[in-house]
Amino acid sequence: MRIEGIPASAGYAEGPLFDLDRPPAAYRCKATAAEEKAALKAAIARAVSRLTSLAEPADADAAGILEFHIAMLEDDALGGPAFVSIDSGQPADAAWRAALDAEIAGYEASDQDYFRARAADLRDIRDQVLRALSEDGGIDAPAGAILYGMDIAPTRFLETDWSRGGGIALKAGSSASHVAMLARSRGVPMVVGLGVFGDDPTGVALLDAEHGDIVLSPSPADVEAFRESSSSFAARQGKAQTFLTQPAATKAGTPVRVQVNIAYPSDVGGIDIASCDGVGLMRTEFLFGKALPDEETQFHAYRKVLEWAGDKPVTIRTVDAGGDKPVPGFTVEETNPFLGLRGIRLSLARRDIFRVQIRALLRAAVHGNLKVMFPMIATTEEYSQAATLFAEEQAALATRGVAHKLPPLGIMVEVPSVAIAPEAFANVAFFSIGSNDLTQYVMAAARDNAAVANLNSVRHPAVLRLIASVAAFGQQHGIPVSLCGDAGGDPAAIPALLEAGLRDLSVAPAQLAMAKAAIADVSV
Ligand code: PEP
Ligand code: MG
Repeated sequence: MRIEGIPASAGYAEGPLFDLDRPPAAYRCKATAAEEKAALKAAIARAVSRLTSLAEPADADAAGILEFHIAMLEDDALGGPAFVSIDSGQPADAAWRAALDAEIAGYEASDQDYFRARAADLRDIRDQVLRALSEDGGIDAPAGAILYGMDIAPTRFLETDWSRGGGIALKAGSSASHVAMLARSRGVPMVVGLGVFGDDPTGVALLDAEHGDIVLSPSPADVEAFRESSSSFAARQGKAQTFLTQPAATKAGTPVRVQVNIAYPSDVGGIDIASCDGVGLMRTEFLFGKALPDEETQFHAYRKVLEWAGDKPVTIRTVDAGGDKPVPGFTVEETNPFLGLRGIRLSLARRDIFRVQIRALLRAAVHGNLKVMFPMIATTEEYSQAATLFAEEQAALATRGVAHKLPPLGIMVEVPSVAIAPEAFANVAFFSIGSNDLTQYVMAAARDNAAVANLNSVRHPAVLRLIASVAAFGQQHGIPVSLCGDAGGDPAAIPALLEAGLRDLSVAPAQLAMAKAAIADVSV
């Protein structure tokens, strides 16, 4: 039986299935409410110390996630309702489960992918404490297993020894989750959105996380075809590494610029600047975490990336909050956030917050080759208002004698109105096509909904025709056009993008080698 889902981290895994949703061992109730409370307190402390020991050897991404879990557990507000229920006669395990389930339900009901993805973190925290309460050490998955379940806890991911192979197959899950991010950076195959499959499937399964499916109870022919695809993927990956250090060019020798997309300034730590042509997209909304970052924090973050890149260009995008990227204290509750107050619309509505970012960018521009672009531009008025704010803040910095520089200002082409009628934007410094959003808006198929993933294709002729017309418009008017959506790093989409006239792509760092190898295979 083959079940289709959404690829969240490319790769192949063949191995025994391991059920992630196995219930923890039973809890033995105590005699009094005071003892129940003491047991819960001790279990929370044990969970914290377990997480602390996991965080010590972990890399920066993983440590950040674990520290978030520790901070949640140490926050009395989370466990508060559980202690109240114990006072009214509940045992510790039921009280803790009910309190956390209520919290999780709130996150799961959110129509924003970011919050739904955080529900997995809360389930992880809930189960950590339940395991500590029942003194259940957990059962280890066999070597090379495919871990399957509704979702996977980040700590379960970090505890697993992936050096022995294996993969992750989720009935629900999200490619925006913390685990998906970790899986991509460590090359662990992962598929999400598979839906409910079979009652307790067992035996060996075949996980194809390049295309996003799983085969249960495979036939010998299935296994043979799977192994062929898997070794072709491994061979492509191995071959791709040899392209990493070379400038990208097609088979016919046409040079193609390949830049990288980053989110955090620390991302550059793992990238050799010699392997890319600069940063084509820095998504600054990830700096806007729990609290809004002040001017100094932003200035240092941007400066760090600019200094790392030397004279290579760094394109920093002004905050694209909203849609699937809510920022507490900034974004608003909306019934349809992808069509709401997101990107430049929100920045122009909250100019106090936008001006802080503009000042940080103007000051950082002195430290490298900065370009700035605006997300979700739909009309020329939005561009001119944003450009005017840059001019006003520049004048104010000049009056105060603060070192600064006005960078070239460009726009994301991701709203169909711009791609259809780019002529109104002939005065902008550059275009960067956001194929993730352009595709979802052209196809009316949300980028984060497994049920319509088949429609969300950058290779649909309607999307490709728009991309080609934007590339042609840029050529005619001397406006540089790049593409920074995920399609730029997708070997299956690269031939069509180059055919459409693009010669400048910006890709996730993990896709750099594969993208260059795919470019070398195209004849344009
Ligand atoms: C895009 O829409 O393609 C893009 C690069 O922006 P984001 O994925 O951050 O919306
Ligand atoms: Mg976008």
